[in-house]
Amino acid sequence: MENCRLTSWADAYDTKTSTQQAIIEENIVFSKHSSSRDIHDLVAQAAGCSKYCALTMKDTNGAHVSMSPTMPCNTPSTPYKVHITQPTSNQGDSEVLTQLMSHVADQFSKAFKVEEMRSEISTRLSALERKLEIEGLKAVEIEKCKKDISEIKDQIWTAQKKFVDFNRMSSLSDERKICLKRDIPAYPKYTLSDETIDYLKQPTFDIWHWEPNEMLSLLEHMYHELDLVKEFNMNPITLKRWLLCVQENYRNNPFHNFRHCFCVTQMMYGMVHLCKLWEYMTSEEIGILLTASVCHDLDHPGYNNTYQINARTELAIRYNDISPLENHHCAVAFQILSNPETNIFSNVDKDTFKRVRAGITQLILATDMARHSEIIDSFKSKLAGKFDFKNKEQLDTLKMVLIKCCDISNEVRPMEVSEPWVDCLLEEYFNQSDREKMEGLPVAPFMDRDKVTKPTAQIGFIKFVLIPMFETVSKLFPKIDATMVEPLRTARDRYEGMKEQTAAPPPQPKTENTKKDGE
Ligand SMILES: [Zn+2]
Repeated sequence: MENCRLTSWADAYDTKTSTQQAIIEENIVFSKHSSSRDIHDLVAQAAGCSKYCALTMKDTNGAHVSMSPTMPCNTPSTPYKVHITQPTSNQGDSEVLTQLMSHVADQFSKAFKVEEMRSEISTRLSALERKLEIEGLKAVEIEKCKKDISEIKDQIWTAQKKFVDFNRMSSLSDERKICLKRDIPAYPKYTLSDETIDYLKQPTFDIWHWEPNEMLSLLEHMYHELDLVKEFNMNPITLKRWLLCVQENYRNNPFHNFRHCFCVTQMMYGMVHLCKLWEYMTSEEIGILLTASVCHDLDHPGYNNTYQINARTELAIRYNDISPLENHHCAVAFQILSNPETNIFSNVDKDTFKRVRAGITQLILATDMARHSEIIDSFKSKLAGKFDFKNKEQLDTLKMVLIKCCDISNEVRPMEVSEPWVDCLLEEYFNQSDREKMEGLPVAPFMDRDKVTKPTAQIGFIKFVLIPMFETVSKLFPKIDATMVEPLRTARDRYEGMKEQTAAPPPQPKTENTKKDGE
């Protein structure tokens, strides 16, 4: 590097200067790369004054020479004269001081700014840290919730395996369920008063008034009273055992329980009497109607077909998503009848049993509300001409409509009897929708506890399903209008009043598409 500088100095110019006061001659050497300020300072140094003095330089002719690397070369005979015009030494100091002060101020200001920025950054950083901490906690909580849910699911699954939950497993392999847990001696005999016997034929019958054993006695009475025991040559003890076994195979659901079975059968019994059905059909057919009513919801798990299908339960898989519940109720019914001890049809000939089996199966399968329109439309088309009770197909359609009417007939009953059923149904619906939410399955609005109310649940169903269906049947049996359709109109008006009072949200009409299973 030294060599380079020397080379560089070789290109330097010699300049002779002189000061005004001393007229001393000095040689200065500068590089052509020097700045004008460097040359100025060098001249000041040669002149023996402060570099802050104002210097002017003139040639021998008195012309001003600019102090710059490109100033012309001179010779010992033509020296430049340097004039120190303002030799005030303080000025340089104050300039230095000013510069220093300004520099210090500048540094202070920068320091303050840096401090300000540092505090702002630190505030933002700690806010970010807090946010990160909260988000982190949230993430931890979410993870914990997910883990809890998965554990609960596992527990439910294990419990289901232990206690045979038929939402997952079918009962057909579980023979224990079909066997009687108690025998006839545990089933006391009740003597029914004449008043009760008459009352039992009315749709106004208070179905809440009776204990399970009393309901068994009332059902038993219906079979005797309609002469079905004689018609099918039933052993009266077998009838008792069969009823007991049926009762044991209804679950304690809020809605689809043994009392619902009793309700539907009692309404069927009432309709047999109201419409004097024995004038239009055989005892065998009345026996099919009554027995299908008794068995129509056997072993109902409390979750409808939509759930079965969406959750891909054992039942849905077994029945290929086609009316899984109704197929199951029917299969359990015939499982019970396959045991000679509980087979009320054990004394009938093969052909009769075949007809009875086909008839009961057809009626239980007809209770799937997914088939509502299909069945009602078929019935209406048969009513359009002259209805022929002798025609098997026409009579079968009528029987299907009759069991459908009985299955969803709660609103035909007096308010005190019907209203508690709505709470039971909603409880069962809410159980289902809660489970669907937990399992990430679709939830029907009419089952959602956040969307449905008692009046909204009933108004649409009464207006669009019940009244049209009962009105259609009343064309064949006019007595139905006063006894069954009129109470439905009253119930509709009552719920509409209730809706106005509670200023509930708009009703969710229930159609055959939203109510998949029978009530
Ligand atoms: Zn039902």
